Amino acid sequence: MKISFVVPTGDVLNEARDKFLTSCMGGCWHETTGEAVRRFASSGFICSKCGMFFTTQNDYSMPEDFLKLYQWAKNDSGLDEFTNSFRPADFMNEKRGPHARKEFADGLYKILLARREVNHV
Ligand SMILES: [Zn+2]
Repeated sequence: MKISFVVPTGDVLNEARDKFLTSCMGGCWHETTGEAVRRFASSGFICSKCGMFFTTQNDYSMPEDFLKLYQWAKNDSGLDEFTNSFRPADFMNEKRGPHARKEFADGLYKILLARREVNHV
């Protein structure tokens, strides 16, 4: 019998990245052990760490979460060189947006990882 594996590398990498970025921003990477609940018009989960209702994890490839990440990075003057190397208009561009947002999030992830390693030596 032949078994083929589908390796979801993209998603896995994104999750590690987004989890790390969320913690850098002082946010909670929500986790739950409970069942889905309904709040208002949406179905989601109660986070077992912070108690907040959430529907999805942060995904910095998506425009809404990306803007939070971008604003946060803009407030860190140590990241000026990096943030200034991007054209803000590209991020919300229908065609270039997905690629620009990924490039930004991936790049920021690398910088912050390196920064954290330096600080913890
Ligand atoms: Zn939480």
